Amino acid sequence: MSWQAGYTGVSSSMSTSERQGVVGPPVVLIDGEVPGGAVAGLLGRSGPLRVAPPRDADGGGEDSGCGHPQSGDEERPAAVPASLTNGSRVDGDTQRQRRKGRARRGDVERNLFLPGEHGAGLTNLQYAPLAEITGCAPDLAPSALNCAAPDTGNMEVLSMFGNEAQRKEWLDPLLDGQIRSAFAMTEPDVASSDATDIATSVVRDGDEYVINGRKWWITGAMNPNCRIFIVMGKTDPDAQRHQQQSMVLVPRETPGLTIERGMEVFGYDDHDNGGHAELAFHDVRVPVTNRIHEEGAGFAIAQARLGPGRIHHCMRSIGVAERAVELMCARAEDRVALGRPLAEQGVIRDWIAESRVRIEQLRLLVLKAAWLMDTVGNKAAHTEIQAIKIATRLWSSGSSTRPFRPTAAGLSQDFPLARAYAGIRTLRFADGPDEVHKNALARTELRKQAAALDRRRSGRQLDARRQ
Ligand SMILES: Cc1cc2nc3c(=O)[nH]c(=O)nc-3n(C[C@H](O)[C@H](O)[C@H](O)COP(=O)(O)OP(=O)(O)OC[C@H]3O[C@@H](n4cnc5c(N)ncnc54)[C@H](O)[C@@H]3O)c2cc1C
Repeated sequence: MSWQAGYTGVSSSMSTSERQGVVGPPVVLIDGEVPGGAVAGLLGRSGPLRVAPPRDADGGGEDSGCGHPQSGDEERPAAVPASLTNGSRVDGDTQRQRRKGRARRGDVERNLFLPGEHGAGLTNLQYAPLAEITGCAPDLAPSALNCAAPDTGNMEVLSMFGNEAQRKEWLDPLLDGQIRSAFAMTEPDVASSDATDIATSVVRDGDEYVINGRKWWITGAMNPNCRIFIVMGKTDPDAQRHQQQSMVLVPRETPGLTIERGMEVFGYDDHDNGGHAELAFHDVRVPVTNRIHEEGAGFAIAQARLGPGRIHHCMRSIGVAERAVELMCARAEDRVALGRPLAEQGVIRDWIAESRVRIEQLRLLVLKAAWLMDTVGNKAAHTEIQAIKIATRLWSSGSSTRPFRPTAAGLSQDFPLARAYAGIRTLRFADGPDEVHKNALARTELRKQAAALDRRRSGRQLDARRQ
């Protein structure tokens, strides 16, 4: 059974107004182009699709993890200052021309995730339903459209913070889908939820940096097309806590960089996407010009990287959930227990109804977060981004896993559900653990409530003085 057949969620064949009816916030299509047509065409193909490319094939990564400067969620410095960004947002004809040249190769729309001059020109809200569709074929669609993690976040970093030379050497081939990349932050020896703990040393020696340390869970690292690693390490352990880290570009073939082993998630090795690897950096030397932006900017860059990346996982997760419900319903119709199809048993109907309600809730929250990112910015949408991450992840645990358990068959290798469940479950760690996000979200809420209480109190005092 393939992930590809059928889709019951926000359909790319829906008109704009239909979609608006579903999502609430306005969906504005650029120039009337709907790249989802290309996505739907790909997913709706009747012929066999290559679901599991060979281990060495070009892959990208699905809902796999990427960076996670978690202490930043609690104590992060103000949003990345505008001066940090080299990337300019170009509107109008220039953007459209670039978009057409870069995002459309061979009639397949790519880089749909990337707003601004380097991407396809979609807003986050426009991209959300398309990303959801790609979640129905998580091993194929995101990488086929060059919208897979961790490349997406890495392209964003290079687009926003890379200099001209770095963009030419690494961003251009990434945007063209010629190479893949990895993001190396998490370390086996330190609690990496807090990126300020990262211990890998990046020491300047003349015109070079010398890197020493270990990383693990590095998604896509074993993909032979992964040519470049964005590595986070400490350039100045004596600087202020959030300014000790820098990011440097380490080409794959650099001497001293070794892949120690592949890692498994619940026994799945993620080979379609290049796996997750443990890496060793032993006196790895790169030119100082490989540093992304300024020394000490690593933490802030990691923060900026995670806004869009976090919500992309949630968008795709909803597609995964839609596919799971579809399989659950099909199974429930086919299978007979106690003289009646499962679909007529109360408990199964309860699962189906609860799943539908939950998916709709999650989708609305994803779309709200995307809409806020577009209208008020990633920083102002921070709470909603955290909320949707928490909500999507919670759904994958405990009693809420209904769509993933339509009888024992769903636990087997005959259906994609077990693997999908494992993938969704890892999101509770990838991009930072839920606990960190809940902690930060609760603190924001407490501050908001305290401010509201202050306002009410001072209003009452004013009233009292007036009387
Ligand atoms: C499938 C997968 C893919 C990944 N891909 C990548 C990748 O490509 N690149 C990369 O760099 N990393 C990657 N990661 C790593 C991931 O981002 C980290 O595992 C995650 O950030 C947690 O770090 P840690 O495992 O060191 O947990 P620790 O920091 O050791 O935390 C352990 C637990 O402590 C609790 N905790 C920690 N901090 C707090 C807090 N402030 N408040 C409350 N509780 C807290 C949480 O429950 C947490 O789960 C991936 C992980 C997985 C599972």
